[in-house]
Amino acid sequence: MTFNRRKFIAVGTAAAATLSAPAVLADGHGKPRVVVIGGGSGGATAARYIAKDSKGAINVTLVEPSRSYFTCYFSNLYIGGFTDLEDISHTYGTLAAKYGINVVHDWAVDVDRDSKTVSLAGGAVLPYDKLILSPGIDFVEDAVPGWSVAAQNKMPHAYKAGSQSELLKAQIMAMPEGGRFAMVAPPNPYRCPPGPYERISMVAHVLKQMNPTAKILVADPKPKFSKQALFEEGWQRHYGGMVERIGPDFGGENVSVDTEAMTIDIDGMVENVDICNVIPAQKAGRIADMAGVTEGNWAPVNAADMSSKVDPDVHVLGDAAAQGDMPKSGFAANSQAKVCAMAVRGALTGSKVFPAKFTNTCWSLIAEDDGVKVGATYEATEEKIAKVDGFISQTGEDAATRKATYEESVGWYAGITTDMFD
Ligand SMILES: Cc1cc2nc3c(=O)[nH]c(=O)nc-3n(C[C@H](O)[C@H](O)[C@H](O)COP(=O)(O)OP(=O)(O)OC[C@H]3O[C@@H](n4cnc5c(N)ncnc54)[C@H](O)[C@@H]3O)c2cc1C
Repeated sequence: MTFNRRKFIAVGTAAAATLSAPAVLADGHGKPRVVVIGGGSGGATAARYIAKDSKGAINVTLVEPSRSYFTCYFSNLYIGGFTDLEDISHTYGTLAAKYGINVVHDWAVDVDRDSKTVSLAGGAVLPYDKLILSPGIDFVEDAVPGWSVAAQNKMPHAYKAGSQSELLKAQIMAMPEGGRFAMVAPPNPYRCPPGPYERISMVAHVLKQMNPTAKILVADPKPKFSKQALFEEGWQRHYGGMVERIGPDFGGENVSVDTEAMTIDIDGMVENVDICNVIPAQKAGRIADMAGVTEGNWAPVNAADMSSKVDPDVHVLGDAAAQGDMPKSGFAANSQAKVCAMAVRGALTGSKVFPAKFTNTCWSLIAEDDGVKVGATYEATEEKIAKVDGFISQTGEDAATRKATYEESVGWYAGITTDMFD
């Protein structure tokens, strides 16, 4: 290997100007290696940005079992009939072909932080200099008595998109006339705070057209929820009398189900239901636990670079991270991934690292052309990702504003999925 002194000096100078530690950490094994576990919102973005911006200087491997990633965002719109399943499906060909990312379709089954290796179900062992975990969520076991993942085809969660979304939609289409749809809503914190309520809106939208005497029952352990006034106003306006929500004051936190009898027990009141959409309490995807970076259900991180509080060479993104004020959303995961990618590249190649800034907006569709949103900007403090300022749609907004909000969300979807997969 020829030693290029000018290049060395250039790298050294750049490193001195960065906010992170000095660079070049290939540890004598050639190019630095980054392994990303999870090819969803956080992982795909991080892999893409590191590979794209380092222009081949870093080896990036992305480990993801699925060949198609179905976004949860817009999966409620699929249920409502506003989009097709193919339109929310994304593949990894461009990440491999255009950016040289080594995409491995397999499960990561172990992380050894001492030897800095990841083991895959297929037997391969991947060494890393920096590991990025973005495995999304798993469900807390026994969170809803009577329900387990084994029963997910009887009572779907549809909180990981794809076949579960398809199943829930098929159940709604086949629901008997005047039947009952129940949802068990999750406790905080969970993926996509407005997600369950957008789903209720989309289910009501379908039932209003196909099955107008049907009823929707929501058992909710939370006293209040995201964009509540906006959803309640919308339900009243479009679906008057169809939706009944039972909060904790009336036993909404004391729920069990019987998947065989198709009943839901809300604080001793047993109801027969035709569909039961159980969205259990959530925790970081299991591999974060296996890597030993979780504390309780989530993985605490440093806001400046999304590095784990227990290991500076492991970064945790998206839903799995305990990061502070951001909601668990695809937009947030994408935003965090860009901060992480810049920091990882800086640490491995000496490229410039700018102070972390984050943004998020969560749009929800309540009925056709009736969209609402909530959003904020954030900065990194010593303690957490801290909210700087925010905005929210107002009740009583006119139809043109609501329509424009929905159209904005369609543009956002196209933009953010391009930013992850193209
Ligand atoms: C109904 C619903 C609606 C939503 N709507 C919105 C919205 O409008 N806007 C928004 O911003 N967000 C929305 N979200 C939230 C958003 O989907 C998540 O917050 C986001 O996907 C989190 O990104 P992530 O990278 O943490 O996890 P994910 O995107 O779930 O990606 C995790 C990936 O890791 C993989 N994985 C897990 N374990 C392993 C392993 N051991 N080895 C290898 N791979 C593994 C999984 O296969 C998965 O592909 C919604 C969610 C739901 C459920």
